[in-house]
Amino acid sequence: MISHKPDGEKASLLLIYTGGTIGMKVDPLLQALTPFDFSQILEEVPELAKFAYRIDSCTFDPLIDSSDVEPSLWVALADLIEERYDDYDGFVILHGTDTMAYSASTLSFMIEGLTKPIIFTGSQLPIGMPRTDGKENLISAVEIAAAKDEEGHPLVPEVCICFDNILMRGNRSRKINSDNFRAFRSENYPPLAEAGINIRYNTSLIRRPTSWEARPTFHKDLDTRVSILKIHPGITPGVVRNILLGEETRAVILETYGAGNAPSKDWFISIVREASETGKIILNITQCVAGSVNMDIYATGKSLKSAGVVNGYDSTTESALGKLFYLLGTFDSNDKVKAGLEMDLRGEISK
Ligand code: ASP
Repeated sequence: MISHKPDGEKASLLLIYTGGTIGMKVDPLLQALTPFDFSQILEEVPELAKFAYRIDSCTFDPLIDSSDVEPSLWVALADLIEERYDDYDGFVILHGTDTMAYSASTLSFMIEGLTKPIIFTGSQLPIGMPRTDGKENLISAVEIAAAKDEEGHPLVPEVCICFDNILMRGNRSRKINSDNFRAFRSENYPPLAEAGINIRYNTSLIRRPTSWEARPTFHKDLDTRVSILKIHPGITPGVVRNILLGEETRAVILETYGAGNAPSKDWFISIVREASETGKIILNITQCVAGSVNMDIYATGKSLKSAGVVNGYDSTTESALGKLFYLLGTFDSNDKVKAGLEMDLRGEISK
């Protein structure tokens, strides 16, 4: 771990506000929470001026509750970042917490060869409220997005979520709490940084690009014909059949028990086999909040493997979904999609 103190160097950042609780303040006339004008960000968060960074802001129209996030928002974010990539040292995205882990995950797959930080943050309480967590989250996200090493390279050239003093890899994070300030966790990968008196970076865990000079590739074709099937006791053949063999569906994320186990009943395995043989891609991830799938331990796991199910290792659901959207949008061939699923593309799985 190394500590980083801002050295006064003038970094330039683009702050992108998409919506969510963080950007709200009480309108004295309406006596209701309304989004505030982000061009006035320094008035709302005067602490940012102390960094002496150049911070430009950009507000999405319309601002949305993140429950309304659609892939078009991810494409708009990728477009904006691609267009302004050379103008800034880093990007901070303010986003509602509800689907932040989905957005951070998917964006990590859409941008290949990232050389600059893209830090998502938000808050549980609006920035205009006295006990808000928004200011602290924003200030830490800004400092992290601007941080450089001795050679002048960004310390965190990754898509991340910064929340409650913890910096997590975006595609490892999930929202785990709807009311306290520690809203996100990354159970299967340690924090990339922790903010205390100083921000301590866990540099050995942070991904570095193969080339700092090459521009990233932006992949904006997403195919969202994916469903998620959470296995549970009492699940019926009809339900499993409808989801696994759905006409629209190209891939199914199977949320299994423990180390990747599912019912061993003949009807279940034969539907899985039929789906796989008819060209559906089935990805096995665990319902457990931590740990990984291993289809070689139990007989039930083995039968899934022999029915053609692909190992999702220790992926979160959010990351599995984003990875599938990206791979299906990029490749027509199922073999290529399956090969991509088995690979660790952006630090999203440990094998
Ligand atoms: N519903 C809000 C959203 O996700 C909650 C939040 O911002 O934290 O946009």
